[in-house]
Amino acid sequence: MSLLSFDDRDGQIWFNGELLDWRDAKIHVLSHGLHYASAVFEGERVYDRQIFKLTEHTERLVKSGRILGFEIPWSVAQIDEACDLVVEKAGIVDGYVRPIAWRGSEMMGVSAQKTRINLAIAAWEWPAYFTPEARMEGITMTISDWRRPAPDTAPTGSKAAGLYMICTLSKHAAEAKGFSDALMLDYRGLVAEATGANIFLVINGRIHTPTPDCFLDGITRRTVMDLARLHGYDITERAIRPEELADATEVFITGTAVEVTPVRQIDDYRFTPGEITRNLMEAYDAEARRPHEAAAMVRHSAA
Ligand code: PMP
Repeated sequence: MSLLSFDDRDGQIWFNGELLDWRDAKIHVLSHGLHYASAVFEGERVYDRQIFKLTEHTERLVKSGRILGFEIPWSVAQIDEACDLVVEKAGIVDGYVRPIAWRGSEMMGVSAQKTRINLAIAAWEWPAYFTPEARMEGITMTISDWRRPAPDTAPTGSKAAGLYMICTLSKHAAEAKGFSDALMLDYRGLVAEATGANIFLVINGRIHTPTPDCFLDGITRRTVMDLARLHGYDITERAIRPEELADATEVFITGTAVEVTPVRQIDDYRFTPGEITRNLMEAYDAEARRPHEAAAMVRHSAA
């Protein structure tokens, strides 16, 4: 398989306030973010040329940095504008945006008080590859040996690069066993989330999702919860034990990248993607593609 490497593409990347040629957007090997994971990032989707929930993502990026003890030297409005600019310059219709902030090279040690905070924003075209019918088949998952850490063990409220170490390990282990993703339990042994998405269970016609007290409270998760309520579904956030997977008829995961994706299997538990999952997939797609002119105008007048 030939891969189009992410460092060898045409286009431009926003890098500390400038638009650089894609291949020139480089950092030095002695960057604190690389050695000590002092980096936070976002993943955003572009639907019909508009970044969905842009300001929520930017606000989370800024918050993630603050949780790691640093302040990104651009305002939310400036970052929003830069993301819009990158998407517009690249002419992206349906795509993905990746802002990342990291500590620079000024200090190389655990203490990093005087490092510069850098920010880069890249975006690329990313059309939907699977038809809704194909997606309704559902993915397969296996429970990971790695657990989400307690909030006093890691900065769990931050979308911090370092927290993905156990996600990559879990995902690779799942793929090696022939599954598409891993379900991660938390430090208490409760159901937490997938490696890059939140999880929902349908039990007796009601929707249940774990309380996000030690993992990311996804922007998609919150959107889907609102849509579920609008559709008249009963939805509960609570502690969920893995044994309860036996009672679930439908299971789905949510996230910027996976949107709403049905799950047909978690280890020996089987589910049948059904009406609730399908309705929420369609509702999410309609919401993401709803024109956001009004929201964009408010954003730009505030900038
Ligand atoms: N959990 C993890 C670990 C993630 O990486 C993501 C994707 N950002 C999510 C949950 C879902 O978050 P969102 O819906 O904001 O994309």
